[in-house]
Amino acid sequence: MRILIVEDEPKTAAYVRKGLTEQGYVVDVASDGFDGLHLATTSNYDLVLLDVMLPGLNGWELLEGLRERQATPVLFLSARDEVEDRVKGLKLGADDYLVKPFAFSELLARVQNILRRAPQQREQPLRFADLEVDPLRRRVSRAGDRIDLTGKEYALLNYFMRHAGEICSRTLIAENVWDMNFDSDTNVVDVAVRRLRSKIDDPYAQKLIHTIRGVGYVFDVRSP
Ligand code: CA
Repeated sequence: MRILIVEDEPKTAAYVRKGLTEQGYVVDVASDGFDGLHLATTSNYDLVLLDVMLPGLNGWELLEGLRERQATPVLFLSARDEVEDRVKGLKLGADDYLVKPFAFSELLARVQNILRRAPQQREQPLRFADLEVDPLRRRVSRAGDRIDLTGKEYALLNYFMRHAGEICSRTLIAENVWDMNFDSDTNVVDVAVRRLRSKIDDPYAQKLIHTIRGVGYVFDVRSP
């Protein structure tokens, strides 16, 4: 079991790392939000322990970035004990919340609890025709061919899959995948869709992304 600690206070990070290592976990530490997000999305962790107030990205921003890509369980560790902070963390998709200072025994109990239920909660590989996506490892393949996608291409594909069979307008895609309004320039969406198509559709007979002229796209195994 591999655990990532994202914590900028060296003493807390060392204390938690030591305790978890003694319990047999393999532990990495990142001391700022950018390193934390990078490690969390490029290595395969079973759990992320996440501080809220961090240099670089804060814990909430890190969690949002992580959730765009994968479902790794997250336990917030924070000195902030306001109810709304806790609710915010949970709403963003954290699995649990522990207020500092905490006893190591309580942290360990919560860690074990999350890891026990994690395998059932983890998303199973998704399949559309012969396209297969493993959300946990962010692995995409079609007809057995491994396909490498950039972070944005993966986020776009993920959005399409979650809305399979629905018409996805350029505006909705821009808002959800880029978190921005592209009232004037939805060309960005078209360019990204073209790149995604060149990887997952162009080499294959059956097309999955269909253009709805003047509106946007539909991701479907059938032609609309
Ligand atoms: Ca901190």
